Amino acid sequence: MRYQNLSIQTQREAPNNARSQGFSFLVRAGYMTRDAENLPLGDQAIQRLQSLAAESGGTFFSKLSLATVGNDRETFFPLSTGPIVLLHCPACGYTDRKEWAERKKSPFPPEELSSLEKVLTPGCDTIEELSNFLEIPTEKTAKALMFTRLSDGKFIMAIVRGDMQISEAKLEAHTGKIRAATEAEIIASGATPGFASPIGLQNALIAIDNLIQDSPNLVAGANDKGYHLKNVNHGRDYQAEIKTDLAQAQAGDPCARCGKPMAESNALLMATRNVYEFSNILLALAESNYGEKGLSLPPNIAPFNVYLMHVPGKTIDTKLSAEELYSTLQNAGISVLFDDRDERAGVKFNDADLIGLPFRITVGERGLQNNQVEIKARNAADNLLVSLGAVVDHIRNAIENYPL
Ligand SMILES: [Zn+2]
Repeated sequence: MRYQNLSIQTQREAPNNARSQGFSFLVRAGYMTRDAENLPLGDQAIQRLQSLAAESGGTFFSKLSLATVGNDRETFFPLSTGPIVLLHCPACGYTDRKEWAERKKSPFPPEELSSLEKVLTPGCDTIEELSNFLEIPTEKTAKALMFTRLSDGKFIMAIVRGDMQISEAKLEAHTGKIRAATEAEIIASGATPGFASPIGLQNALIAIDNLIQDSPNLVAGANDKGYHLKNVNHGRDYQAEIKTDLAQAQAGDPCARCGKPMAESNALLMATRNVYEFSNILLALAESNYGEKGLSLPPNIAPFNVYLMHVPGKTIDTKLSAEELYSTLQNAGISVLFDDRDERAGVKFNDADLIGLPFRITVGERGLQNNQVEIKARNAADNLLVSLGAVVDHIRNAIENYPL
């Protein structure tokens, strides 16, 4: 492919919205715009990745040498500026999106169910105020959250223990899309804002976190302003239609698998099952493969293996020789990006470093006088002089033995 056919525009400066070095180099090297839209060079890189994915099936990410994390549904690449928030367990490797992550839950020791008791709780608008006033831990309270289903306006009350938060994503997986209920909707259902309880609601769908079933004698609202009920028990006092994990896990919560504390981190989505997010994968590869002057992509993932350029000469037509070498390499099945512009050598060297193909071949007057060209591996410090007839074999060997 010729440089000019790909309409490559490189940039000297990092884009001012660059949040990571890999993204910055992809924009500067002309793979994508600063709005992360792919440019022709980026499309070419993604086509290369698509064929590699088709060839390698389940071993795709290990072929890319990307350190991914994930579960049987999704694969992620850890990146501090990534848009997805993960919880992961450093001890056992458990990983999921924060809104889906499961935490270990510890039920209370069994106790006799006590009788409902209505108590005056003045000024107790929050779980903390309630637990201070009644001198009980927050885990002995029930937190009621109220929503309206978008599809049919159904009123939904979800109950989690007072020491936990709700994951709306987990709730929506059972109810469909929801929004916060309005005060009028709460009152119409028979509940009292701020003192809401699942007991005695009209036409409400009740959902409880599964830990509520193992948490006897909780304090909940009394659906009466200023009052709470002691000893509220699911099964005896109200029935939920949905009983499932609704708890939003937090960093530091115990891992559902091994009980060790989980940590929060950011990531990019690489794949959902076997559907790959190729633009994100290209970004992850850039984050994992760059040097001081630009990208540095290994042969199996680079959009082309060779950056071929000529330095205009005084007595020899270097461009003509470069054209011949371009055909020779292509006929040998080696993919080439041919910088056929009549630019200064320095401009082309900079672009070659930014774009980061594994090998640069420079056709110049001095080399041609000895029938030689210069070959430089992107990750090597020095150039090699190689005679024109040996270039194909040299590149083939170098691709095979490229240090990963
Ligand atoms: Zn774990």
